[in-house]
Amino acid sequence: MAGFVYLVGAGPGDPELITVKGARVLSRAEVVVYDRLCGEEILSLAPPDAELIYVGKNPGHHHLSQREINRLLITRAREGKTVVRLKGGDPFVFGRGGEEAEALAEAGVPFEVIPGVTSAIGVPACAGIPVTHRHHSSSLLIVTGHEDPAKAASRLNWPALARAADTLVFLMARGNLPAISSLLIEHGRSPSTPAAVVSKGTTSEERVVTGSLADISELADAAGATHPAVIVVGEVVSLREKILPWLRREAVQAEREAEAASWMGTPT
Ligand code: SAH
Repeated sequence: MAGFVYLVGAGPGDPELITVKGARVLSRAEVVVYDRLCGEEILSLAPPDAELIYVGKNPGHHHLSQREINRLLITRAREGKTVVRLKGGDPFVFGRGGEEAEALAEAGVPFEVIPGVTSAIGVPACAGIPVTHRHHSSSLLIVTGHEDPAKAASRLNWPALARAADTLVFLMARGNLPAISSLLIEHGRSPSTPAAVVSKGTTSEERVVTGSLADISELADAAGATHPAVIVVGEVVSLREKILPWLRREAVQAEREAEAASWMGTPT
């Protein structure tokens, strides 16, 4: 029997932010191949006897090379297994899911893509920052901040990028934040442009820091807002202040805590 691969987006961190379809295929997986996910609790959706294979992607350190990951997916599928390739956020937003899809297609392995809530949009949303808004932003640009912006061979066109969209969202950019904010200012974005760093978004360790392009880097350091983080630049960041007092996420958290307490038989 031929196997099958599902390229599944796990969502940004909160385990409840996987799609219904993603959760369903995960619950039937025989093999789960996963990266370092923001919310590893999601793995408990897999059957207890599923083979869980960590292929640990950290910045600058790959546990398995991309080629080895591709090979693993192909081999397990050819063994007739149902394989779930679980990726943080959405598989095709800076997740190298495109390369895996190419490799599967080249190998003649059937697969399905199940999109996920990308951290680029979902993390700011849960923190009270809408990435577009009729009065404040009619365009959104999602950029990798992984490249060292100082390197001459940067593929990013900073002069164009700085002005290309009302809202700029940088992923994999925490380490390069000082250089990124200076380059945006140098290329015409006002130093007073609102900016935010949301670290470990949608998890219990979330940290949100807001400021301006001029000071966001220092503020984020001072607040200990570490990797992984989404960086948002644009007027939309200022909406958070208005939204926040009525943004109720604690309600969901409280419900979950009550549920967990009832499982554990905590006396009431
Ligand atoms: N495919 C993923 C992105 C992979 S690149 C997606 O669609 O979300 C990894 C980057 O995503 C991190 O460097 C960080 O910028 C961002 N990221 C992922 N999860 C995050 C989270 N919970 N909080 C903040 N940033 C996150």
